[in-house]
Amino acid sequence: MKARVKTTTSTPVVIDGAAGEGGGQILRTSLALSLVTGRAFRMVNIRAKRAKPGLLRQHLTAVRAAVEISDAACDGAEIGSGELVFRPEAVRAGDYHFAIGTAGSTTLVLQTILPGLALASGPSQIVLEGGTHNPLAPPFDYLAHTFLPIFNRFGPTVEATLVRAGFYPAGGGQIEVKITPTDRLRAVELLTRGTDSGRRVVAHVAGVPANAAERAFEQADKRLRWGRGVCEIIEHPTERGQGFVLVGEVASEGHTEVFTSFGERGLRAEAVADRMVEQVRSYLAGGLPAGEHMADQFLLPMALSGGGAFRTAGLSPHARTNMDVIQAFLSVRFQVTELKNGGVEVRVPCGN
Ligand code: ATP
Repeated sequence: MKARVKTTTSTPVVIDGAAGEGGGQILRTSLALSLVTGRAFRMVNIRAKRAKPGLLRQHLTAVRAAVEISDAACDGAEIGSGELVFRPEAVRAGDYHFAIGTAGSTTLVLQTILPGLALASGPSQIVLEGGTHNPLAPPFDYLAHTFLPIFNRFGPTVEATLVRAGFYPAGGGQIEVKITPTDRLRAVELLTRGTDSGRRVVAHVAGVPANAAERAFEQADKRLRWGRGVCEIIEHPTERGQGFVLVGEVASEGHTEVFTSFGERGLRAEAVADRMVEQVRSYLAGGLPAGEHMADQFLLPMALSGGGAFRTAGLSPHARTNMDVIQAFLSVRFQVTELKNGGVEVRVPCGN
């Protein structure tokens, strides 16, 4: 069996789900770390600061997926549950299929089990069903073009395929993920953006008026001046409901950031474009490589690798809460340094 990542003590960790941001990330990070370290945890006040606290379908699917890949003993895995006890055995590589049953985010379920499977003793193939382009979660484009290229730099090889898109509220999407594991995660640094290597605007559309994407492209071009040649429409079948998702991609030498804006009933296509443009502009103005969500999602593999660093414009309360959960499981300490020209560097000193 592989050596497990060192932890602070061998007793179960008690995690307060009401701490900091008080959302589902506290649960997902705890599950991910429990799978990798083998350390049991007990969580109280699950998602206490959310309008509908407790486990929703996406969180419950993440718990069940974690149970399945590790033969964990688990109490409290029910819809609405505010408490959970989770005791994993070793993670088993293999072929798995997890269906959320709602439009809950497939990418968030994946991120819960990914570190464990990326360090398992053989390859895995996973099929996930649910939402693939959800507000408040990494859309598939972000998973494929931002998160996984960075995650793969830590050592594993993970490839994701969008089989069919699933938009909120209908869901019904499917992604397939192939994981070739690594013996251990190695330290990664993401300190500069490097030279620009491309720009793209993609509109995912299902059952929305044909000119919505064209109007959004026109508005994006008016404000970003990237030209219409970088714009692409991807049409999806309409039988699983409507969807309009606008994605702006900024590719640099060593990193690509994806910025997403979601169409809403009553929101003009130009306004959908404006929301994407604002994110892109603020990222480009900062000049730092890791966007807000990358900062959040870099923390866990960085801590597990025991080294590395990234630079970002600032840390959200979500990221700070994530740091606290990680530090409750692992003996690493994040060092946060303010940069002279704005922004911060987050580092795990080597040997930590
Ligand atoms: P819940 O709502 O289930 O309680 P939560 O509040 O912890 O969960 P969020 O804060 O909404 O969840 O974020 C979940 C994760 O999704 C975070 O890692 C965040 O960085 C990521 N995320 C949210 N929006 C995007 C986006 N547009 N692009 C990439 N990642 C995103």
